[in-house]
Amino acid sequence: MSVDMAVPQWLADKCNLWIARLSMEEWTIGMVLALAPNDDVTTRALAEQYPDLNYGRITMRVDVEDDEDWESCLVHELLHIKHSRIDATVQKAILPQLQSSAADMADVVYRAAVESYIYSMAWTLIRGYRATGTEGEQ
Ligand SMILES: [Zn+2]
Repeated sequence: MSVDMAVPQWLADKCNLWIARLSMEEWTIGMVLALAPNDDVTTRALAEQYPDLNYGRITMRVDVEDDEDWESCLVHELLHIKHSRIDATVQKAILPQLQSSAADMADVVYRAAVESYIYSMAWTLIRGYRATGTEGEQ
């Protein structure tokens, strides 16, 4: 049984703020809350990406708070969605050209590099806006 949990207005507002900052207006972003995203209580957020549809869906854990750590999770997931066209290109155009074992290794290496990049970029953006005193502005 699933229970619909309303996304708080402050979280929807923060998501819209970051959609504008990341120039993602062409995307439709859905958001839901869950007790355990990905059936894992340690997962704070996740993103599903549909780059061919310009659609992304973010699931935030229900105990999300209005603080910098959680904001970094939100920005992180938005960056995954924004990056999904590049991911799809790698998955559909590059990896199939490799032998199976090489494709598996390349996929693991690519995902690790992207994850590290997105983690770093989310914090860079948050700290950049904070440093310029524009946390609440677009
Ligand atoms: Zn990630």
